[in-house]
Amino acid sequence: MFRTAILIITIALLVMFFNSWLKLRAQRPPAKKSKPKKIRNEPMVQCEYCGIHVPKSRAIQADGHSFCSRKHRKAHAKSLNHDE
Ligand SMILES: [Zn+2]
Repeated sequence: MFRTAILIITIALLVMFFNSWLKLRAQRPPAKKSKPKKIRNEPMVQCEYCGIHVPKSRAIQADGHSFCSRKHRKAHAKSLNHDE
């Protein structure tokens, strides 16, 4: 009789622990199974100097041209001045 009581209490405790564990799991945010959508459909522009493609938001615009960096904007302006 005593053994049966212990067995019932043990099972009851296990069920309680399992229920609380399930509740904790349910409270957590769902696992990120979907792929992150970090890549935006941002237009790419080509650097007038080196030809590398950069996102438009990062590109440096000057005189209707796009550049990957200020350095290349300056270099392009210099090369234009040398040609003339
Ligand atoms: Zn460049």
